[in-house]
Amino acid sequence: MANSEIPTEQWAQVVEKTGGPAVYKKIPVQKPGPDEVLINVKFSGVCHTDLHAMMGDWPLDVKLPLVGGHEGAGVVVAKGELVKDIELGDHAGIKWLNGSCLACSFCMQADEPLCSHALLSGYTVDGSFQQYAIAKAAHVARIPKELDLEAVAPVLCAGITVYKGLKESGARPGQWVAIVGAGGGLGNMAIQYAKAMGLNVVAIDGGAEKGEACKALGSQAYVDFTATSDLVADVKAATPEGLGPHAVLLLAVQEKPFQQATEYVRSRGSVICIGLPAKAYLKAPVFDTVVRMITIKGSYVGNRQDTQEAIDFYARGLIKAPFKTIGLSQLQDVYEMMHENKIVGRYVVDTSK
Ligand code: NAD
Ligand code: ZN
Ligand code: ZN
Repeated sequence: MANSEIPTEQWAQVVEKTGGPAVYKKIPVQKPGPDEVLINVKFSGVCHTDLHAMMGDWPLDVKLPLVGGHEGAGVVVAKGELVKDIELGDHAGIKWLNGSCLACSFCMQADEPLCSHALLSGYTVDGSFQQYAIAKAAHVARIPKELDLEAVAPVLCAGITVYKGLKESGARPGQWVAIVGAGGGLGNMAIQYAKAMGLNVVAIDGGAEKGEACKALGSQAYVDFTATSDLVADVKAATPEGLGPHAVLLLAVQEKPFQQATEYVRSRGSVICIGLPAKAYLKAPVFDTVVRMITIKGSYVGNRQDTQEAIDFYARGLIKAPFKTIGLSQLQDVYEMMHENKIVGRYVVDTSK
């Protein structure tokens, strides 16, 4: 089934070789397979993962040529014959998990990001930096029609990921969480989700502008890693009795904060690794980790239920993270600002420009 107005060609940003740049050009529109939908992407957020994919930062093969993007919000315009629970005209989102087998022991337990057959949007399959993108119907985010597609786009990766990370941390309402990289795309969302979940926030990032943004979003304290002479002491001092935060969400694209977090996390606290700096390692003193009973773990996007819950927080008006919109044709400019850590919050691309 398809809408007759679907063109045969469309605008897209295509990475042709590792290291980039992304090239704005016309490419054919694909047809969805039996269990897939074709989404007319209206807006897509730009995640730092898209830059990692272009730069070949990770030990995971990337498709080339590649259309990046995995925060794509749009309208379903075609679907395969097996798709029964989504209609043409419905609003839907392309997220990082483009598809999974739905049958392995991970998928059976709703750990589909761990599926060894997972398809990743804008990484192993083409993503949302094009006007028409395909995903498995079972995995597309269901977006209620009353939501603004432009503002909800960043929820589709940044929102889901930080919401899941906060749940994985086990932090409870009234407790404290340190958000490292709080001024970036995931970070701004994390402050809003943490606040909505009743948590107190210590934001960590660099520069006064990011500090202002974090405070405006509701963080109780801001530690500027570029200005402090003792980051560990400053983070601890910002929490009750100077004992440190109950949880740390590591979102920064640098190795150093991954080495520091166990020094300031509260005893019995948890350190949640989410950011994926290239070739980075974790380091923690064994003695402290043991005698202070520290938990260190990774958190990777979210499952379909986490997706709908994260969207529901947004739908209830609890998540208002700032974003700036730019034409899809200017994506490479966003990558350059991102590489220099100059972006406060998220950039969203409008696929019509
Ligand atoms: P971003 O570029 O918008 O934000 C990163 C922020 O970290 C910037 O504001 C930067 O100033 C800050 N930063 C850099 N060094 C720092 C330091 N030493 N201390 C504190 N802050 C520092 O990136 P983003 O889109 O928010 O993505 C962040 C990371 O999360 C990326 O590596 C991305 O690939 C990863 N990611 C992981 C998952 C997952 O499922 N685990 C999902 C999405 C993104
Ligand atoms: Zn992402
Ligand atoms: Zn599976």
